[in-house]
Amino acid sequence: MKSYKFKLKPSKRIENEFLEWLDVCRELYNSALQERRDAWKLNKISVNYYSQAAQLPEIKLVREDVAGVSAQVLQSTLRRLSKTFDDFFRRVKNGKKAEFPRFKGKSFFDSFTFPQMKGAFNLTGNNLRLSKIGKVKVRLHRQIIGKIKTCTSKREVKDWFVIFAVEDEKQPLPKTGKQIGADAGIENFLTLSNGSTIANFKFYESSQKKLRIVQRSIARRKKASNRQRKAVLHLRRIHQKIKNQRNNFGHRVSAWLVRNFDFIVIEDLNLIGMTKGFLAKQIYDVAWNSFLQKLTYKAENAGRQLVKINPNGTSQTCVCGETVKKDLSVRQHQCKVCGSSVHRDINSAQVILKLGLGNSLKDRTYHPSESVSLETVCFN
Ligand SMILES: [Zn+2]
Repeated sequence: MKSYKFKLKPSKRIENEFLEWLDVCRELYNSALQERRDAWKLNKISVNYYSQAAQLPEIKLVREDVAGVSAQVLQSTLRRLSKTFDDFFRRVKNGKKAEFPRFKGKSFFDSFTFPQMKGAFNLTGNNLRLSKIGKVKVRLHRQIIGKIKTCTSKREVKDWFVIFAVEDEKQPLPKTGKQIGADAGIENFLTLSNGSTIANFKFYESSQKKLRIVQRSIARRKKASNRQRKAVLHLRRIHQKIKNQRNNFGHRVSAWLVRNFDFIVIEDLNLIGMTKGFLAKQIYDVAWNSFLQKLTYKAENAGRQLVKINPNGTSQTCVCGETVKKDLSVRQHQCKVCGSSVHRDINSAQVILKLGLGNSLKDRTYHPSESVSLETVCFN
């Protein structure tokens, strides 16, 4: 399954409808959770999805607002709870840390899902028709490839999105005959074995200033006042925007790599050695994981080979196999044996490619097939 997310442009009426549905689903979720909790506490009985779903027709008889929501959306809300419980019990069973499923407050329940069933939803061109709600305009910024399975309406602060889960179809890309090694870092998001660099995502830094200003105004404003609430909302919007930008960045970089190279070698990252401090590492890790996930499924779909290697020693060994010790302050790699003189990250990327091709770190017979040309590829 692959997901596509698009912005919705709901009319005021539809938006009100969305909000009402969210309320109904959240209430259903919380009461179903209550039922499960009580049954467990009082009688050690585990309530399942089917017994809860069987009660829906009765609830609808006495609750007009519940009856106004698509039956399939109500069912998928119960399924979602059921899944949360399954995950919880699985973790308990495996002896992992697990938190009992929690009641959802207004700001923690922000989506409802139409599972695919005839007539529940329908997308034609830019128009999405949702059962019992009506037509909503979608900003379709990319083509959907494959069969749509489910349709989720999601609120992000004040904006609305639709997320389609689509059954993935493999789409092999034409061979390019090119292979690449990629070194991850903070100075550049990626440095490639052919000398190209992919500039790091800039948005976090530029949003930092805005974040600080808003955080200060939240602290200054009167507690629980309207003005403070507004500032909190503003803060959440900025966080959401950063998240979206990070996702877009990951999509662009991974799509570009997969389009251009048949064989991609990347570090199985363990950034513990990074010196930029905890915050930078955290930010980087989130972006890295999001990127790696996208790269993995895109490579698989396109029939590309993605190899992950252990990065130990890649910065202290020349691509020719010679050990070239250097601490982090030394940015240029200079090898006395083969004469290689490149940025340290380019050398690392070349060593990464060498390892990905199955050679050992100190192998002396390997020679990079490409000459290096410095080029910056920007995806910001
Ligand atoms: Zn060398």
